[in-house]
Amino acid sequence: MALVNGNYLKLPEYFFFNDLEGKINAYKLLHPEAKLIRMGRGDVSQAIPEEAAKAMADAAKEMGVLETFRGYGPETGYKFLKDKIIKFDYNAYGIQLEQDEVFVSDGSKSDVGNIGHIFGRDNIIAITDPVYPVYENAAIMGGRSGHLADDGLWSNIVYLGCTAENGFKPALPQDHVDIIYLCYPNNPTGIALTKAELKKWVDYALDNQAIIIFDGAYCAYIREKDIPHSIYEIKGAKKCAIEIRSYSKTGGFTGLRCSYTIVPHELMGSTETGEDVEVNKLWNRRATTYYNGTSYIVQRGAEALYSKKGREQCRALTDYYLENCKIIRDEMTACGFEVYGGVNAPHLWIKTPGGRSSWRFFQEMLYELGVVCTPGAGFGNLGEGYFRFTGFNQREAILEAMERIRNWKGY
Ligand code: PLP
Repeated sequence: MALVNGNYLKLPEYFFFNDLEGKINAYKLLHPEAKLIRMGRGDVSQAIPEEAAKAMADAAKEMGVLETFRGYGPETGYKFLKDKIIKFDYNAYGIQLEQDEVFVSDGSKSDVGNIGHIFGRDNIIAITDPVYPVYENAAIMGGRSGHLADDGLWSNIVYLGCTAENGFKPALPQDHVDIIYLCYPNNPTGIALTKAELKKWVDYALDNQAIIIFDGAYCAYIREKDIPHSIYEIKGAKKCAIEIRSYSKTGGFTGLRCSYTIVPHELMGSTETGEDVEVNKLWNRRATTYYNGTSYIVQRGAEALYSKKGREQCRALTDYYLENCKIIRDEMTACGFEVYGGVNAPHLWIKTPGGRSSWRFFQEMLYELGVVCTPGAGFGNLGEGYFRFTGFNQREAILEAMERIRNWKGY
């Protein structure tokens, strides 16, 4: 009988988000008449920018005509999209990149999961707690997490605590780590790092020959000054960082799938015998071996997000979600909740009242109000005692949820 990859069996039996959906479905079965409001939603609710929809319709027509039909495209993305990425997302911030440092992909979740393939199994990995769970899950599935200790933590993973006391900004690791996953603006806490704060991480990585995997999925939500849009705004970062970006929350592309990863030529890893290896070469090899390129139509849609109108429409879209966040922040604070984030990110991290566990509070809110939050415990041990709301729902739904909470005697 064929052996399965035993690392998969080391994962918790249920993926947190499946568990959550199960509980929501059970509630729906028991209360078919209830109007449920999903305030924890990680998916967008608004239509994609018109410019992108038009460009994709045109591209679809091209595919139906012999002269303009296209088959497989370049595995790492079309030049027309890479040109726009370099010009608008990097040159605009004083960063120079080569075409072959940009890898267009079908979603940052794929890249965040797959990036581990190009690194050795014995690296010590640092992740924040709470964290976007894919970093840890991918490390476990790829056999890179070491062994599970009695405290429920993995031996090859260093957990960087993010608490109210440190403003949800983790301290540098006490000991040496090799790979550091950073996500800023952060999911789930909604906190962003300033340039000076991110510089400490770049300096640590340079001093320790570590590599930072910087997840910038929410960079389009940055509004305050002094928050870097790209890690490469920090001097030396090209020598120590990979950056992963997505169009999912920038242009509402969650159902279309498009993202990109930057791997600078300057970034070096090491062989077991101590020779330097250009990480870009490995990621290029992986992309060209395992991937046949993001759909032409979708890349044309992503390209259109960079036109003048496209940029205005993306801005209007992210402004809409941020305005939702402001409504939630103001209302929840007025109701006496301790609220974090929601200013440079579409996530709000909120303390459960009365020291209740996050699952208990989730259950109470669901059954007493028909409002769904995401329990903080799903994002790590230190997520316990918190829950996540996002600004991604429709405005009317958010206003109604706020009204239900305002009139709630249960908390
Ligand atoms: N990274 C973070 C921090 C996220 O929150 C998400 C989605 O919620 C992703 C990556 C994945 O985004 P996508 O695969 O849609 O590009």
